[in-house]
Amino acid sequence: MKSPNLNKPMFQVCPEYANSVRNGECITCDSKITNEGFSDEISIKEYGISGMCQECQDSVFNNPTKITS
Ligand SMILES: [Zn+2]
Repeated sequence: MKSPNLNKPMFQVCPEYANSVRNGECITCDSKITNEGFSDEISIKEYGISGMCQECQDSVFNNPTKITS
């Protein structure tokens, strides 16, 4: 599983997010990140972009706007 790129601007702006990623935790709810926690490949990929666990991705992507960068 690919971890989010810690050089991304959002991790420069919010160093506590980068800490969560280093600890293998979700950046928003601090849940432990595991492969089993994700429902599909797309969600695992999304973790590599946003650093969020399945649950947090679900709550964010229930909204029509999806993070694409
Ligand atoms: Zn989470």
